[in-house]
Amino acid sequence: MASWKELREKQPNVVKMLTNSFAKDRISHAYLFEGGAGTGKKEAAIQLAKTYFCQHTDGIEPCLTCKDCKRIDSRNHPDVFFVEPDGQSIKIQQIRQLQKEFSYLGLESKKKVYILEHADRMTNQAANSLLKFLEEPGKMTIAVLLTEQVQHILSTIYSRCQVLSFRPLSSMNLLERLKEQNVENRLARLASALTNDMTEALELSESEWFAQARSIVLQLTEELKDRPHQALISIHDKWLSHFKEKDQIDLGLNLLLFWYKDLLLTQIQDEQNIVYLDQRDILERYALQLTKKRISDNMLAILEAKRRLAANTNPQFVMEKLVLRLREG
Ligand SMILES: [Zn+2]
Repeated sequence: MASWKELREKQPNVVKMLTNSFAKDRISHAYLFEGGAGTGKKEAAIQLAKTYFCQHTDGIEPCLTCKDCKRIDSRNHPDVFFVEPDGQSIKIQQIRQLQKEFSYLGLESKKKVYILEHADRMTNQAANSLLKFLEEPGKMTIAVLLTEQVQHILSTIYSRCQVLSFRPLSSMNLLERLKEQNVENRLARLASALTNDMTEALELSESEWFAQARSIVLQLTEELKDRPHQALISIHDKWLSHFKEKDQIDLGLNLLLFWYKDLLLTQIQDEQNIVYLDQRDILERYALQLTKKRISDNMLAILEAKRRLAANTNPQFVMEKLVLRLREG
């Protein structure tokens, strides 16, 4: 259960628009909420339904305790409908069923809300059927279409909706959400540093490959510092056999980049943004021994390696050259 106040922290612009519409009694009859997974689209749609039905709102905040609020939360409200893909797509039968429900007057009021998840997965027939429905809405009906793939929404649908874009989660927000999913802190920090996408972050955090990638990178940083001769051997024995594809090597280089960034953060005592927080003791030791200039040079070397890799230079060559630069001095 969320409140507009909580949602506002995550999506200030969207929430401002929606709450203003309620305050001025200018609710749109068709909304399209677009944005990545985990950005709060569904939460906002449910919140909108509650604000619409609740008769005990405090300003725009629904009371969360009345019959309407509770039934919306438990998905049992007779006038709030959820449609999601049946298998791969949302089919025309599902839209027809929805229209049938709407042909009855509201059971308890004339208000109705329907929330269509993954609206981009409507078949063409389903979308065309919905279109007619959007064109002649009952005055008290609100349609909320949700999508992660706005480019796949038919332009005829798009143009009839008020489109609200949900911005990517900040890494702090994402981190919290990963922790709610019981992802280990050390992996959650790393995944949320890599991506803004909740689905992708979860997939990474749950893969054994990713946990191993983290260990290999940490081992390399230790070798570069304390056993420089070993580093080049490890590149051949471990790195290149684990990071095989180009995008995997690029990910590995990003993990390495975070290490040096962490060293800079350690030097300025900005603990909150450190990615390898469980390595704090080692970070502190290294941060004392390396100059800021040296750390920055290492980061530049990694960025250079990423560029060369993107330009299709042989990965083994790129990695060897990088290791030689990182262990200098
Ligand atoms: Zn209520």
